[in-house]
Amino acid sequence: METEKCHIVMVPFMAHGHLIPFLALARQILQNSSFSITIANTPLNIHYLQSAISSSPSPNLHLAPLPFHPTIHGLPPNTENAEKVPPPLLADLGLASLTLQPHLRALISTITQQEARPPLCIIYDVFFGWVSDVAKSFGTKSICFTTCGAYGTIAYMSIWLNLPHRKTDSDEFYVPGFPQHYRFHRTQLHRFLRRADGTDAWSRFFQPQIALSMNSDAWICNTVEEIEPLGLQLLRKFIDSPVYCIGPLLPTDSGMNSKHRSGKESGIPLEDCLQWLNLNPKSSVLYISFGSQNSISETQMMALAEGLEESKKPFIWVIRPPLGFDINGDFKAEWLPLGFEDRIRESKRGLVIPKWGPQLEILSHESIGAFLSHCGWNSVLESLSNGVPIIGWPLGAEQAYNSKMLEEEMGVGVELTRTVESVVTREKVKKVIEMVMEEEGRGKEMRKKAKEIAEMMRKAKREEEEEKGSSVRAMHDFVTTILS
Ligand code: UDP
Repeated sequence: METEKCHIVMVPFMAHGHLIPFLALARQILQNSSFSITIANTPLNIHYLQSAISSSPSPNLHLAPLPFHPTIHGLPPNTENAEKVPPPLLADLGLASLTLQPHLRALISTITQQEARPPLCIIYDVFFGWVSDVAKSFGTKSICFTTCGAYGTIAYMSIWLNLPHRKTDSDEFYVPGFPQHYRFHRTQLHRFLRRADGTDAWSRFFQPQIALSMNSDAWICNTVEEIEPLGLQLLRKFIDSPVYCIGPLLPTDSGMNSKHRSGKESGIPLEDCLQWLNLNPKSSVLYISFGSQNSISETQMMALAEGLEESKKPFIWVIRPPLGFDINGDFKAEWLPLGFEDRIRESKRGLVIPKWGPQLEILSHESIGAFLSHCGWNSVLESLSNGVPIIGWPLGAEQAYNSKMLEEEMGVGVELTRTVESVVTREKVKKVIEMVMEEEGRGKEMRKKAKEIAEMMRKAKREEEEEKGSSVRAMHDFVTTILS
C-alpha cells in the first residue's frame, strides 16, 4: 500500500506487557505503509526497546526518550516501569507519568517544526488518556490502543469509571455495559480496585485517564474479530468510536522476549529448555508462569508445588520469589516443599526456570498441553495462537475478566483460583491440573476449542489477496481510512 511519508508518534504505558505490543504494532503499520514512527517513553524503557529492535532495525522506526526522574515522585531510583516498581507504588508511577506531558509536547513541536506539519496521529495507551489532549492541541488525530482484549478492556474501564461494587453490599454486582444477567464478583477485583473510592491514588490516576481515552478518534485492539464477538460488541457500544482489531500482535523480537527486561538472561538456555521439552510426548506438559510482574503468595506457592507433584504431570514452571519479596531477586529453596527441586530434577518430571522463561518458544512446542497462567492478555494470545488451553489464576489488572471470558465465552479455560489472597489447596491444584491435562473429557474439549481459536487467529492474519484475513483487512482500513 502506498502512503505519503508522514509521521506517527506512539506513547505506550510503562510496562513490558504494553511496550512489546506497541512495538509489534509499529512494525505492523510499517509493513503496510511508508510512515515514519517514533515511540516515546521514559529513558529506561526506550533503552529496553532499543535492545529489542537492535536485531532488526528499521530506518522508519525511531525512539524518543522523554525526561523522567522517579525519585522526584518518591519512587526508588530507576523505577520507570511496572516491573521495577514495588506493587504499593504502582499508582504513584501512574501519577508520575503525567509529568511526561510537557516533554511529549516538546517532541511534537520539534517534529512539527522539522516536517512543517504535525504528526498524522498519536497512538497512545488506554492508560495514558492525557495524550489525547496533547494530540488535540496540535490538531493531530488521537488513536487509543488497548493492549488488552475487548472483553477485558470494557470490563476494566467500566468498573473503574463506575465503581459498581461500591454501590452494593452483595459480593456480586452488575457492570454497566454488560448484558443485564452478567454478574461479576468482588474477588474479581484487584485489592486496590476493591478499596477504590474515587479519591485514592489509583482512582486519581485511572479514572481521568480512562475517561480521556474515550475521546479518541479511533481505537485499535490487540484482538481478533472472530474470537471475541461479545467483547467487541460491548466495547463498540461503550466507547462509540471505530474499533480496529488487528491482532494477535505477538512479540517478534526474541532479544526482548528471551531476556528479562532488566537485562538479566533467561533462567536457563533455550536449548536446554527445548531439549527437555523434546523428551515429552505431545500435549503432555503443563507450562506455568505468572507474567512479567506478578507472583503468588508463599503459601499458594507451596500448595501449587505439592498439587503439581501429586498430579504427576510433567511441567515447566517459571518461578519467582513470592509476593512480599523482591520478585526479581534470587529464589530460595525454602519456598518449595523440602527436596522438591531434587526430586523433579532426578525424575526429569519437571523443569523449574528461575526468573524469566522463553515463553513463546515454550508455548509453541508440541509437548505443551496446557498453560497455568495469570491470564495477562499477551500470555492469553500467545497460548491460544498455539492452540493451548488455559488454567486461569488471575492476579490483577483485567486478568480476572480475561479468565472469565476464556471459561464462559470461549470454553478454552478453567479458573483454578484468583488473586494472591485466595486459599488454594493442593487437592484443588491436583484436581484441576488432572482435569485439564487428561486425554478425555473436559480437557480434551478445551484443547479442541483452543485449536479452533488458533485456526481463527491464523486465518485473521492471512495476507493472500483473494482471502485476506480480518486483522489484515482491519489494518488496511485503519491506514486508509483513519490515517489518510
Ligand atoms: N514473558 C516471557 N517470559 C516470562 C514471563 C513473561 O517471555 O518468564 C512474556 C510473555 O511471553 C508475554 C509478556 O512477557 O509476552 C507478559 O505479558 P502479559 O500480558 O501476559 O502479562 P503481564 O506481564 O503484562 O502481567
